[in-house]
Order: sequence, then C-alpha cells, then structure tokens
Amino acid sequence: MSVVGEKLQPTIFELSRPGRGGGKIPHPPADALDRIPAAARRAAPPALPELSEPEVVRHYVNLSTLNYSVDTGFYPLGSCTMKYNPKLNEWAARLPGFAGLHPLAPDAAAQGTLQLLFELEAILAEVSGMAAVTLQPAAGAQGELTGILMVRAYHRSRGDLERTEVLVPDSSHGTNPATASMAGFRTVTIPSAPDGGVDVDAFRAALGPRTAAIMITNPSTLGLFEARVGELLEATHAAGALAYMDGANLNAVLGRFRPGQAGFDVMHFNTHKTFSTPHGGGGPGAGPVGVRDVLVPFLPGPRVVREPDGTFRLEREGERPSSIGRMRSFFGSTGVLVRAYAYLRAHGGTGLREVSDDAVLAANYIKARLAGAYEVPFERACKHEFVASAADIKRRTGVRTLDIAKRLIDKGYHPPTIYFPLTVEEGMLIEPTETESLETIDGFVAALLEIAREADTDPELVTSAPHEAPVRRLDETTAARQPNLRWRGMTGIERPCSS
Ligand SMILES: *Cc1c(COP(=O)(O)O)cnc(C)c1O
Repeated sequence: MSVVGEKLQPTIFELSRPGRGGGKIPHPPADALDRIPAAARRAAPPALPELSEPEVVRHYVNLSTLNYSVDTGFYPLGSCTMKYNPKLNEWAARLPGFAGLHPLAPDAAAQGTLQLLFELEAILAEVSGMAAVTLQPAAGAQGELTGILMVRAYHRSRGDLERTEVLVPDSSHGTNPATASMAGFRTVTIPSAPDGGVDVDAFRAALGPRTAAIMITNPSTLGLFEARVGELLEATHAAGALAYMDGANLNAVLGRFRPGQAGFDVMHFNTHKTFSTPHGGGGPGAGPVGVRDVLVPFLPGPRVVREPDGTFRLEREGERPSSIGRMRSFFGSTGVLVRAYAYLRAHGGTGLREVSDDAVLAANYIKARLAGAYEVPFERACKHEFVASAADIKRRTGVRTLDIAKRLIDKGYHPPTIYFPLTVEEGMLIEPTETESLETIDGFVAALLEIAREADTDPELVTSAPHEAPVRRLDETTAARQPNLRWRGMTGIERPCSS
C-alpha cells in the first residue's frame, strides 16, 4: 500500500522543465556578469527548479492547504494551548515602529519598544504575583534553564554548595529534567499519588539538604490543580530549597491563582501558549521568567531600566554584576512579546479571568460527555485540559490510542496529544481552550464517540486510518530518527522514497 495519497503532488524539482521561467523580470544589462569579479562568480549555475510564476504559486499554495492549523480547525493538543490567535496581535507586531526597529538601534531611537517591554514585564509580574520578570528567554524550555541557573546562582551566592539535586514529578514535561541536567543538577523523579497529584510522602522523603529546587507544573500535565501545593512549598522552603513553577498551564488559572503569592520563587510563562502567538511549527516563542525578590539580583541582563525623567534604556555592560548574564541575543523574541502585550492589553484583568473560566468549562464539558465511552482516570474536576484513556477499548478491541488519533484526522480534527503524560496508559491529553464554540466542541465529541463505536463494530476501519489524509500511516520511528527532509537530485544510486 502506498503511504502517499493523490493529494501529494510532485516536488518542485520534479515539476521543473529546462528553460521555463517567469520571464517578466527585467533582464540585466549585457555587461552585468563582467561587473562581478571573476573570483566571486559561480563556476556552474545553481541547480534551481525552472517553472513559470503561476506554477510556482500553485505549487506552494496547494502545499499550504495540506497544513492543519488553528485558523482552519479545532486543535485540541493538550499541554500546548492551541488557542485562536487574534489578528489584532498580528497588526500590532507588524507596526513599522516595532517590526522595522534595528536590533542595534540606540536606546533613544527605541523608546516605544523599550516602554512596551517595560510595561509587559510589569503586567506579567502582576499576573503572576512575582516581584520582577525577564522577557529574554526564547521559549518555555529556555525559561526553565534561565530560572534554574538563577536558583544555582542564589545558592552559590550564599556559599551553599552542597545542593546538587532537583526534584521533578513523574508527570512533568521532558523539558524539566532536561533543564535540571543542563544546569548541572541530578534529577530526582517523584512518583504521582493515585489522585494524580504529587505523592507528598515520597516528596518529603526525597527533600533534603541536597535539594536545590523543586519543579512543579501547576495545574499539572494531567490538567489537575496540585491540591496540596501549599504543603509542598512549605516543606521545600523549610529544607532551604527553592520552588520553580512550570507555568505552561497558566491558561487555566489566570486571575485566580498567582504563583508568586502562593510561595513559588520562580516560574516561566509560555507567551506563545497563554498569550496567543501562533506556534506549533517550532517557533518563534517567548518564555519570560518571573522571580520573587530573592532572585531579582540574578535576572539576566540587560534589563530595561526607567530613568527618573521617564525615558527608558537598557542596562549597561557590567552594571549588575550579580546577573547570570545574557540568555539570548538582543532582547528576546520581541515580535512575540508585542503580540503578548497586545493580547494582555486587549483582555485586561477581567478578560483574562474569563479566558481561564471558559477554558476550564470547555475542558470539563468534554470530559463529562466522553465519560462512559472513554475512561477518565481522574474523576475530580479538571482545569483547562484532562486525560482520557483508551486502555479499556484496547483490551476489548485491539484499537489503540494512536489509531483513534489517526481516525480523528479522517473526521476533520487535529488529534489531541497522545501518550503524554507517560503515567497514563493509552492516554489522550485533550485541551479545547476558551476560543471554541459549543458547536465545534460538540462536533469533536461526536467524532470521538463515533470512533469508540467503530472500534467495537469495525476495528479494522480504525486501525487502518487515516483514509482521507494526504499521507497514510508513516513509519514514525524512522521519520523521527532518520529524518529525510531535503530533496536531492537523483544520481541513479539513490532511489525516491519507496512507495
Ligand atoms: C510546552 C511546555 C513546556 C516547554 O515550553 P516551550 O515553550 O515549548 O519550550 C514545558 N512544560 C510544559 C508543561 C509544557 O506544556
């Protein structure tokens, strides 16, 4: 069976015909080549495809329509908060004053952008209950690294050099243990309790004079509010360690839970999730980090400073020697930060609270409607996302979560996150966000209920899905381990991907 359906067209190189081209571009002067020094000239023309302008346009526009996106449909990818991105944000980010600013422009020519960044830091500090915020990190993962490096600097500044461990729950995102390792710590994994929360007894047993920090995702990657978070934080501080909050799930608690006020010492935001920048294609993002007072001296530099006369400037080299230094070139992903600012200002405090309320309502509604057809391992009310499981369906029919995800594609929906967190057998992490209508959500629920019925009546239909997608099942292991992402001219030895 071919994995390639008829919607996939030949590559642009295969469409190429020698001598074909746009032809409407003014021809260069006759002596153009002579004006280029011989040493700078190519020996042979580049191996570019030759096509007419409409052929090129159609090729790429047709390819673009194969993409699934938030702008084309519902995208319930748990942990990622794939909400609709208001076009107002795009307008703001494209304003020439922001988009056209040179990254090396002197402060005097960059006052508008510096003011926006200064105000964005203050808004995020307000939202999180933290004392100060850095906007520099390029994504949540880099925010984690920034935060843990500040924790390291804090302990070192106190001469406390024995702290070599970071505690991380077993449901955490892979970036948490990766961050701990990159910062030179040993990761200690804490198991979950049956209710999905951190096992507090195991946590207390692991905590000690070697603990530098704990990293808690709240709400957790199971979509559950960490009910005993107060106890965890108290024990952490009593042991002399600091508490990091992975804020990727902040969309669930805006206006209702302020991590800094609750006692967390440091956290990151994923502006591209919570504050709506298009993401999913791998960036760019932004992962600002908020800190409590004790970590302020260690924030990366340069920070934006407001002078007594109201003007803004960047910190000068060496101005704050306690800083952990620079985490990213220039001032971070400024275009993403403009979008976050626009989103935050457009919503305001009450708007942000509504965002969370609606996201939580939508998740609980889907969870309630799926119960019965799918297992929901954690009964208590979820936050903005929840885990369903197809373990029972698999035992009964042989249909796995992966098959259900593929079958959803046939029904016009992007699949949810599957097999994450790793702690749930045949898990599906479903996150609807606040931006979907009841009709859209009902359509998604109907599709999942129909697939559960198909698993019983015609399992083959599900295990061989997708039937309607541009490609059928791919060998995902080979695709991940040996990605072949570039077209190369066939020399005769190589062969096109086997069909
Ligand atoms: C997305 C996510 C991260 C990593 O954030 P990036 O911005 O993708 O680097 C970390 N933790 C959790 C729980 C996440 O969902």
